[in-house]
Amino acid sequence: MMNLHPRIASLYENVLRRNPGELEFHQAVREVFESLGPVIAKHPEYADSSILERLCEPERQIIFRVPWIDDQNRVQIHRGFRVQFNSALGPYKGGIRFHPSVLLGTVKFLGFEQIFKNALTGLPIGGAKGGSDFDPKGKSQNEVMRFCQSFMTELYRHLGEYTDVPAGDIGVGGREIGYLFGQYKRLTNRYESGVLTGKGIAWGGSLVRTEATGYGTVFFTEQMLKTRGQTFEGKQVLVSGSGNVATYAIQKVHALGGSVIGCSDSSGVVYDPEGIDLELLRQVKEVERGRISEYARRKGGKAEYHSGAKIWKIAESTRIDVALPCATQNELNGDDARLLIRSGVQAVAEGANMPSTPEAIRLFSEAKVLFAPGKAANAGGVSTSALEMQQNASRDSWSFEYTEQRLAEIMHGIHERCAHTAEEYGRPGDYVLGANISGFTRVADAMLAFGVI
Ligand code: NDP
Repeated sequence: MMNLHPRIASLYENVLRRNPGELEFHQAVREVFESLGPVIAKHPEYADSSILERLCEPERQIIFRVPWIDDQNRVQIHRGFRVQFNSALGPYKGGIRFHPSVLLGTVKFLGFEQIFKNALTGLPIGGAKGGSDFDPKGKSQNEVMRFCQSFMTELYRHLGEYTDVPAGDIGVGGREIGYLFGQYKRLTNRYESGVLTGKGIAWGGSLVRTEATGYGTVFFTEQMLKTRGQTFEGKQVLVSGSGNVATYAIQKVHALGGSVIGCSDSSGVVYDPEGIDLELLRQVKEVERGRISEYARRKGGKAEYHSGAKIWKIAESTRIDVALPCATQNELNGDDARLLIRSGVQAVAEGANMPSTPEAIRLFSEAKVLFAPGKAANAGGVSTSALEMQQNASRDSWSFEYTEQRLAEIMHGIHERCAHTAEEYGRPGDYVLGANISGFTRVADAMLAFGVI
């Protein structure tokens, strides 16, 4: 671990004391704080006006009971969260996660990251995150609908297109956004398209939003490779997960001439040396809502399935040029990083939020592996959500090609901002430092302008 600037170290102690047991939140704050020493030294006005203390304290945290009735007529109780972290740059914006592991600390780490990510996009959006410990896996369509309706019945009073605009995340895709929007519309008697993003194309959604996070991660990686005169052509790639982000990362890698030879879910790993057959993967995951073991079964002897394994182990026996962790937090640790480095990995970009542990990031940096943190590499999703809001506000809808071009430009802009800031602070190629500092200064300057609020 790096040392913290002395003015920041005591603030970090305070964050630990005031948020006990929230390890993921501590990890996310520490990562940002480690980058900010040079900024505080150069601009003491940020420390003098307590911008960092204010940034670590969410503007508002909402925790609520979500009661619903399952198909056996039993009452089920879950907990709902929305952490409205920072609105200095625009309405709160960030996804909703439905997963049994969701606790307040999970939502706070995601919301904290979201502030800097959203600032980095250059678009007018603040940072937030929400979720519930509800597990949509194995639930019937009607159960998911009833849960979403109950969740929104409490949350709607805190939302609005100028207030807070949620989107999807783990466990929340197009189906769930549909149920949430339907209930919001019913409760408010308003067709307020801009209140949620990730909507269906027929009712206010944007083309490319579904693909945006995965595509954006690959666009960012392409830019990093370019700094070393490389492209995706002929590269062997691992993509963890097989959900929304992973699926479209795989699609774009293949379009750019690379081959994704492994993907995963929380039960196991598929290794397919011929390259993942995306059509089959989508049939199994999106249409049948099945497990990836089914993908391997249908490919017969051509693909291997390893139950309970970690995807990065594939690097033990095969050359891996690029790794894109696209599943969940802390899924790539120091041992995994060592394996990838030995295998010759050149670039790692985080499609998921905080998938690499601090040790893994340190090892990549020491080995001069190009490394893009999630707040830069996966910002394509929220950026395209902001484009969806623009289309809703102007009652317009854009073509796929135009929207994808806007996404590509935004990702290039984020890459430039990170690379330029890293150079300016004497650490060329350090995308973690570049992302943290450039996201921070944009938010901090707006907060300074508003006075003490
Ligand atoms: P999905 O629910 O569509 O997919 C998640 C994938 O990750 C699934 O394959 C899932 O496997 C796997 N996974 C989830 N939790 C775990 C776990 N604890 N251990 C192992 N595997 C796990 O979610 P998304 O693709 O939307 O999100 C993936 C990541 O990307 C998250 O970190 C999210 O915060 C981040 N992200 C998403 C954005 C978006 O636009 N969707 C935007 C920016 C970031 P299984 O099916 O077995 O649970």
